[in-house]
Amino acid sequence: MRVARAIQKLIDSFERLPGIGPKTAQRLTFYLLHVPQKQLDEFSEAVGGLKKNTKTCSLCFNVSETDPCPICSDPARDKTKICIVEQPLDIMAIEKAGFYYGLYHVLHGVINPLDNIGPEQLHIHDLLPRIKDAIITEIIIAANPTMEGEATSMYISKLIRQSSSMLITRIGRGLPTGADLEYADEITLTKSFEGRREY
Ligand SMILES: [Zn+2]
Repeated sequence: MRVARAIQKLIDSFERLPGIGPKTAQRLTFYLLHVPQKQLDEFSEAVGGLKKNTKTCSLCFNVSETDPCPICSDPARDKTKICIVEQPLDIMAIEKAGFYYGLYHVLHGVINPLDNIGPEQLHIHDLLPRIKDAIITEIIIAANPTMEGEATSMYISKLIRQSSSMLITRIGRGLPTGADLEYADEITLTKSFEGRREY
């Protein structure tokens, strides 16, 4: 039996999302067939506006409604520290835990040769103009404790060392190897920051 084209199109779109296999894609599509049209319109409007109505901060590369983002433009933040994270979601996790008041720098990924992702595809070199600011005293590398996260941390610290001798630290204690910052609970996250070691 041939599936209606509109159905197949949506199944294909769902399948392109991370963590969604063919079965889930089919299930979601057929579920949506029973949802009122108004709700579907709201859904498609939310998807359509996702990129149109957000901006990437030109300083830290966080995603928000304004550029600079609310964190970079907040005069109360501690501007002596920059915490490097893989994704904007990591900022959300750290902010929720509420122990860190410094600035951030979002890489938007990690170095991963298997996926052809090198430093050029990430916001790594954009860090250099930021650390020239004499006010910065510490760079905290909060990449995930995975193989790719470690390789990325190593690359970043070597890069910074070429032009600066500032304190570079790496979070880690309490976070199991292979863990994802985004899913760490607030206590673990706080401890891993408190126990950060010089890199
Ligand atoms: Zn920002």
